Amino acid sequence: MHVAILGAGVIGVTTAFALAKRGCKVTIFDQANSVAAGASYANGAQLSYSFVDPMASPAMLKKLPSILLGKDPNSKQELSLAPDHLKWGAHFVGNCIEPKVNTNLKQAITLSLESRDALRELLDQHNISFRYKRAGKLVVTRSVTGLKNMQRAARVKSARGIEMRVLTADECWELEPTIKQHFGDIVGGVYAPDDHVGDARRFTTALSHICTEEYGVAVKLKQTVRGLASVGNQVVGIQTDKGVFAADSVVVCLGAGSASFLKNYGIPVLIEPIKGYSFTIPASDQAPSISLTDADNKLVFARLQSEVRIAGLADYDGDDMSLREHRLNALKDTARRLFPAIGDYHHSGTGWVGARPMTPDGLPIIGRTKIQNLFLNTGHGMLGWTFACGSAERIAKMMTNNGTEYLNDQRAAQ
Ligand SMILES: Cc1cc2nc3c(=O)[nH]c(=O)nc-3n(C[C@H](O)[C@H](O)[C@H](O)COP(=O)(O)OP(=O)(O)OC[C@H]3O[C@@H](n4cnc5c(N)ncnc54)[C@H](O)[C@@H]3O)c2cc1C
Repeated sequence: MHVAILGAGVIGVTTAFALAKRGCKVTIFDQANSVAAGASYANGAQLSYSFVDPMASPAMLKKLPSILLGKDPNSKQELSLAPDHLKWGAHFVGNCIEPKVNTNLKQAITLSLESRDALRELLDQHNISFRYKRAGKLVVTRSVTGLKNMQRAARVKSARGIEMRVLTADECWELEPTIKQHFGDIVGGVYAPDDHVGDARRFTTALSHICTEEYGVAVKLKQTVRGLASVGNQVVGIQTDKGVFAADSVVVCLGAGSASFLKNYGIPVLIEPIKGYSFTIPASDQAPSISLTDADNKLVFARLQSEVRIAGLADYDGDDMSLREHRLNALKDTARRLFPAIGDYHHSGTGWVGARPMTPDGLPIIGRTKIQNLFLNTGHGMLGWTFACGSAERIAKMMTNNGTEYLNDQRAAQ
């Protein structure tokens, strides 16, 4: 079977690997000059296996009015009356109710644990250097209610085999003494020792080399995918700006570009681009080795060897994917105020913006579509790096085992 993978982000490349190791002939297409040029380029670096809580929650519902009125510094939303955006919003609100939150969290945990195992297996077989570490992660908060919510989620996760410890403020400072001076006002936090960090771009680049050199995968860059080639209801290839390419099956891994592409074929997936920013600075000797998330300011600090990656913000600017300097500066200012001693902010570089391909329930869309031989592996939102290896295994098993092992995602099939 010859498979065309659309998109060379972390999802496209892990999908290519999972299919190629099962004996498929694979070709990856991307419009960029290099792999991992989209959202996978400089993300928060968290393999956040223990913190896969979907964004839609009752707490988020309470915050929505202030976000929509532009009063939340962590999230700016451009007003849009586009039907797709309104539909996305309605579904997001629908996912903020407790029973949905629990179901979504449980599904996210299952995929997260599959992803952890799949990455482990991949690294047992292939030597990849991507600043990977089992760093552990501490999420801190200054809010008693916030801590209670985290405690409740920790119970659900512990019951599914994830090691989580709910800590008082003293216990947080004991675990990571370097934060005491700057996070003296927290009420507590949750610590997960089995969370990892790693550079998604380095991983994706190295894995694409393994794919080409050891599994015969072809990577075609600087090729914009314009559409599908089909006969009746069956996909038989793709059209790029360089010509038509024949394939037996096609997997759409276009990240934030997926929804507009699929809309042309009457597959109305709900994926919106939610922009986030990051910058990377040289670490100081006070930089913690564990990953630290400030839950109140929605900011992550991740140590990547001699550097610290700082990421945050969740903006909706419609189709505008540009880096807005004032938003990057807002992130830098907040980070410096919260944790000035973590590194050298004078060397924070140009910074980066990426578009998270967000679904309303925070879960990716992995499955068959109504078009024969057209598959989706997309919509990984805030957690694409974390979910990548498990999602790739799922779609590859579905495609090579004729769907017997996994139920199809109904959102893809609509
Ligand atoms: C600031 C920020 C921080 C984040 N932090 C984390 C984190 O700590 N942990 C985590 O798990 N996740 C994190 N994420 C989310 C994660 O980065 C994404 O979910 C993931 O990168 C999505 O991967 P993807 O391959 O689906 O998309 P992308 O990496 O965006 O890849 C899609 C590719 O499709 C290509 N493309 C699009 N349209 C076309 C076309 N028509 N023709 C050809 N090519 C096309 C693009 O060029 C791109 O390379 C973060 C995201 C952001 C923005």
